Amino acid sequence: MNFDSNCIFCKIADGIIPSYKIYEDDDVLAFLDVNPVTYGHTLVISKEHFETALSTPKDILSKVMNVAQRIGQIQIKELGAKGVNILTNCYEAAGQTVRHFHVHVIPRYEATDGFKLEFNTKEIKYPLVEVMEKLAEK
Ligand code: 5GP
Ligand code: ZN
Repeated sequence: MNFDSNCIFCKIADGIIPSYKIYEDDDVLAFLDVNPVTYGHTLVISKEHFETALSTPKDILSKVMNVAQRIGQIQIKELGAKGVNILTNCYEAAGQTVRHFHVHVIPRYEATDGFKLEFNTKEIKYPLVEVMEKLAEK
């Protein structure tokens, strides 16, 4: 079992640091983000330390995503959310600040709920054929 004594989420998973728990099983823990971007912002983590989603074993990844899905459903039912963003940041360039795999489950209420996640890049164009050829599985 990977454990990093300098990692804040390892300490939360271990109970050394307290958290507002939503769900827990042998492999997965879900708790409220201490600095929520919307009402109900939840984090789902693997209990074992993996740096990002990219290095997390598939079975654990899948368990974490199953819990994230369930929490998203509950946020809609119980909090009256109108939508949910489920996302994970991998590495600093993508906004990761805690180097322990975690999935954000962010309930959304209105376009004006204060959280901005934009995929709207009208001005910048990328050469799609070139990118497809680089990314397509060989
Ligand atoms: P990242 O930017 O790495 O994707 O997200 C890290 C998240 O962890 C942030 O939203 C931040 O508010 C949250 N966070 C950081 N430290 C703690 C903590 O000690 N407890 C809780 N509950 N959340 C934390
Ligand atoms: Zn950790």
